[in-house]
Amino acid sequence: MHLRTETALDFLEGRMEPGEETFWKEHLQSCKSCKHEITVWQQLGIDMKRFHLKSAPDEDLKRAIRIFPRLSERVQPALRHLLATIMFDSFREPAFAGSRGAAGAARQMVLRAEEFDIHIKIWGERDHRQMLGQLLPRGETFVRAARFHLLRNGERLETTGVDDVGEFHFTEVPDGDLSLQIDLPNLTVIGALNVREVL
Ligand SMILES: [Zn+2]
Repeated sequence: MHLRTETALDFLEGRMEPGEETFWKEHLQSCKSCKHEITVWQQLGIDMKRFHLKSAPDEDLKRAIRIFPRLSERVQPALRHLLATIMFDSFREPAFAGSRGAAGAARQMVLRAEEFDIHIKIWGERDHRQMLGQLLPRGETFVRAARFHLLRNGERLETTGVDDVGEFHFTEVPDGDLSLQIDLPNLTVIGALNVREVL
């Protein structure tokens, strides 16, 4: 549940029932998106008029209208898709090449997509291959909401969430044309792992 515009205005103008006000005060402590929404409205001035009232001064009205599209975008954010690039793959590095055939040799990879690095380790025998990964945002963090999907030929095999340090774990990593899909708010990252090719 998030602050809608009307609720935000009621809150700023002190028109709420005490219980409701307490609820939103507590919510604002923990919710960045609502906190931002309140800040935006506050910048318009706490004594602002509601933008749909005819009595609102022209200038206030214009400012409110300029802000409004941004508020709607947050309610229905545009979903972006990013392809992650492989920055490092131990099985492709000459220094590690000798370990490729070795039993139990772990493959280490680093994928990058804009503000995210994804560190991946794949290890185990063919039938019990596992993957441990970590999502490392280089900027603003919202990793807690991330969902990770292991795909083969575009089909979901396994889905997992993320723990407190941004780690995710897949317990059954088969052969094949694998990729990793990461769903974040507003953003989907897909990285090809090409396990068949090198393992
Ligand atoms: Zn909220």
